[in-house]
Amino acid sequence: MNFNEYIVENQLGIVESGYTFQELTTIGCGGAIETLYTPNSVASLQKAFVYIIEHNLKYFLLGNGSNTLAMDTGFDGIVIHLRKLDYSYEIKDSILTCSAFYPTIKLAYDLAKEDWGDLSFLGGIPGLLGGAIYNNSGAYKDDIAHHLLDVTYINSAGKLVTLSNRDCAFSYRKSIFHYIDGIILFARFQLEKIKTSEVLERRAKERKLAQPLESRSMGSIFKNNPLISAWKVIDALGMRGFHINDATVSAKHANFIINTGHAKSSEILSLIELIQKRAELEFGIHLAYEITIL
Ligand SMILES: Cc1cc2nc3c(=O)[nH]c(=O)nc-3n(C[C@H](O)[C@H](O)[C@H](O)COP(=O)(O)OP(=O)(O)OC[C@H]3O[C@@H](n4cnc5c(N)ncnc54)[C@H](O)[C@@H]3O)c2cc1C
Repeated sequence: MNFNEYIVENQLGIVESGYTFQELTTIGCGGAIETLYTPNSVASLQKAFVYIIEHNLKYFLLGNGSNTLAMDTGFDGIVIHLRKLDYSYEIKDSILTCSAFYPTIKLAYDLAKEDWGDLSFLGGIPGLLGGAIYNNSGAYKDDIAHHLLDVTYINSAGKLVTLSNRDCAFSYRKSIFHYIDGIILFARFQLEKIKTSEVLERRAKERKLAQPLESRSMGSIFKNNPLISAWKVIDALGMRGFHINDATVSAKHANFIINTGHAKSSEILSLIELIQKRAELEFGIHLAYEITIL
């Protein structure tokens, strides 16, 4: 029995072909997905994941696709699409337990309605919580690692494992999940009562002015070098507005690359590599990727 038959026979969700990364990522690039698997519950996801690992099948976890650049050649494996899974949170004794499938912008605003303010930095990050934990996402000098108590994930045997903050090995846009087979399911955070509705509104206005939110992008492409922000390096290279066909360095924010029409992933990647090589050659600065390249 192959994967598709296993999913259908055991009613573990939907398996489809014919989708592309172009439709499922915020940058709007990337080729065909051989198998798109949308689980119908966490229990189904657990079973399907065990099947994938036991049969050594190629897979990729996709949340909201806001940090992922997939190649034009597509993906000859299974993409596990997490965006349609149910999500919720509960707060008890100032501790938030939140599903990894919760959209992060919505989470920041939902918490702000109840004056639970600490996760307000998520207010402009258009992913799901699982992707934010994977990448230790952050903004305004704050990040996931700063607030997370522990995280529970499905391991390669299909079992639920809980890791403390310390065991997540968080660093700048990194966590242990870059190195292990595991699907983040939920996490617990320490909260405090802080009013942040006004902060969220102000930052939303500022971001509109400073970031190309009207265009398709993946957010910042490069991590900031400890000594200098990546956008300053790109500016110093004179590459603001530079483009390879529809793959363009944003005129609004030089660390954003936008798809102004029908950019190919190969063009986006060429632009990224060109910036990286020039920064290295001309300034001796290494710009590391912040995005996932598949
Ligand atoms: C306009 C814009 C602004 C942005 N601003 C910021 C910002 O201020 N700060 C910032 O840090 N980022 C920012 N980003 C980048 C992005 O939104 C974040 O990295 C986000 O957390 C990614 O979540 P996602 O669900 O979209 O992840 P995806 O792109 O779907 O996946 C990213 C990686 O996470 C893995 N992953 C996803 N879900 C899980 C899971 N449940 N378990 C295990 N692994 C998983 C995937 O396999 C992949 O490797 C921005 C992006 C855009 C488009």
